[in-house]
Order: sequence, then structure tokens, then C-alpha cells
Amino acid sequence: MSTPRDVTVFYDDRVLAHQPDVNTAFLPGRLDKRIREILQGLEVKWSYPEHPGRLTAIMEKLDNQPIPGLRFARGKPATRKQLARVHTTGYLDHIFELRNQNAWLDVDTTAVSPGSVKAAEVAAGTAVAAVDAVCSGDTESAFAVVRPPGHHAEPARARGFCLFNNVAVAAAHAQAHHGCKRVLILDWDAHHGNGTQTMFWADPDVMFIDIHRRAPFYPGSGNLDEIGAGLGEGTTVNIPVPAGTGDVAYLKALNEIVTPAARAFQPDMILVSAGFDAHWHDLALNVSYEGFAAMAGIMQGLADALCDGRLVYVLEGGYHTESLACGVHAVLEVMAGKTPPQPGVCGVEEVDAAIAYHRDAFLDPDRPD
Ligand SMILES: [Zn+2]
Repeated sequence: MSTPRDVTVFYDDRVLAHQPDVNTAFLPGRLDKRIREILQGLEVKWSYPEHPGRLTAIMEKLDNQPIPGLRFARGKPATRKQLARVHTTGYLDHIFELRNQNAWLDVDTTAVSPGSVKAAEVAAGTAVAAVDAVCSGDTESAFAVVRPPGHHAEPARARGFCLFNNVAVAAAHAQAHHGCKRVLILDWDAHHGNGTQTMFWADPDVMFIDIHRRAPFYPGSGNLDEIGAGLGEGTTVNIPVPAGTGDVAYLKALNEIVTPAARAFQPDMILVSAGFDAHWHDLALNVSYEGFAAMAGIMQGLADALCDGRLVYVLEGGYHTESLACGVHAVLEVMAGKTPPQPGVCGVEEVDAAIAYHRDAFLDPDRPD
């Protein structure tokens, strides 16, 4: 049984204009030279994995398999004031100077194309629009389907495909504009959200919880003992896990760490940095669609119990377009009221069926029993 709920997907196709292409000429300089050397040293041809096809795959999936009651709304560019709540003014000046240019910003693959700065402003602003809609009661919950992703972007540095930290901009906006004193961010992307962690490291009003594949996996941070500092000591919670970690461990983390932490913190709003690269298709971890759906069920339960259901998802990574689209779809179904599944251990059900099927095949008729 399921109860229909009001969910809005925020999507703005201006984010598709972010199209870094390693074959185009970038701004000359030391960084470009260094990137070229790295690319030449690779054995296989490298292409930019964070491409517009990720989002069109999601929207096509939602079009082909509509979820009853799901609404769609457009985003908007973030204002400089909104971005400046988590990024330095110097960094913003530098990024805005790169409008209409090709450039590399960082050795770990953050490039911009002529449409990238606008796309990044719209990505952050679309997360803000999702927060606005939930906080004003226009919708019960919302999912901002955006790119470039955000959680690696630091106050003064673009990293790991990220320019502006969308979820952090959204959290700061919920506090500054909607009177949400305490905001909880759960980051279940396969990679550690180093940028979000840095921004709220000493902030007792933003609890940041991150389950991710442990170092040395990119970006290399997120160890257990990284718990925040100063007034924010204890409001950063890291759950580093090994390669291959799947549904059972993720759900255990949500039930036995995220849930008591959230209950102790008493947030006014919950945000999820939702990456889908923890799905096994992305080869880092082993989460299934049922696993994502079950996690969404837990987060919905926490939002309902703690903050009148105020819950916003912001897309992060996920580079296999099929698992990205199916993962987002599975989460949205739960947000829209579908009862979340209870994922088992992959294959056990099938082996049980095989046991039943073969049960009589090897019986020795001469043995007493
Ligand atoms: Zn990721």
C-alpha cells in the first residue's frame, strides 16, 4: 500500500550548456600544460564523464515511466549573494571572469566551457528553488536534478567536476531566508563530500553526514576521525566504507548512525546530496536500486518525524547513465509515496529458488533417509 505525496522535480535545461571537451583548446597556462601531460600519459582515451547526457537520461526515464503525481518546475540562476554564503568573493570573481571561455580549473578534472558558468549558477539556483518550494509549502518534498554537481567544490576551489557547492548553497539559503536554524545534510554519493564538509566544519547548525568509499578513493578525505572542530565539533560525521559495500551496510549506517544522529540534532530541514555512483554499475560500491529506495524511505521517515517532512534532494554524481536514471526514479517513487522495499542480499533469493528446484536431484534412493 502507498499514500500519494506531492513531489516536485526541479530541472532547468540551461545546465546542459556546461560541456567541457578535452579536445578543445583551453586557456593557455601551466595548468593546461599539466592536464595535457596527464591526459597523454593515460593508456585509454579520456573523455569528460560528467556530461549533459546524464541529465537527459534521467528526464527521459521520468518521461517514459511517469510517476503518478510527480510535478515538474524550472530552476533559476543563484544570485551572487546566495553563492557568497559559502564561497569566497575572490573565488566568485575568478569564476565569473571565465564566462564564455574554455579553461581548466583544477588538475582533478574540473573544466569549464563557454556555457559552464551560467550552468553552474543555474544548478545552485535550482537547488535554492527546490528549498524555496518546500519551505513555502508549494510541495511536500523536492528533487533538484542538476549539474555540474557540487559537493567537491570548496569555498575557494573548484574540484572533482564541481564549480559551486549546490547543496551547501541550498542549506545556507534555508537558514538565511527561511529561518531553518538547523539543517542536516546526508551525502550518500560514492565520493566524500569534501567541499560541503569544509564549508560547515566549524558550524554547529549544519550537521554533515557522509557515507562514502574510503580513502585513498577520490578525494581522499572523510576519515572516521574527521568530526568537525570548534563549535562544530561533533556535527561532521563520516562513515568511510570499503570498495564493494552494498545495501545491507548502507542501510545499517542509515539506521544506526544517521537516524540517532538526526534525532539528537533535531533538524529544521533535511537535504540529501544524492549521488548514484554508489550503484554497482559505477564500479566503486555495490548499492542496488532497492537499496537507494530503502534509503529514501528512511530519510522520508526522519523528515516526517523531525521537520514536518521538509526534504530536498540535490543530485551529485552517477556516471553510468542507466543506473543514474533508474536510481533517481527509484528514489522519486518512494518520495511520491511508494512503500520502500526491503532489499535482501543480492542473489540469495535466487539461490533459495535453485535449492528448492534441485532439492531432489541428488538424493540417493538407497540411503535410509
Ligand atoms: Zn561521486
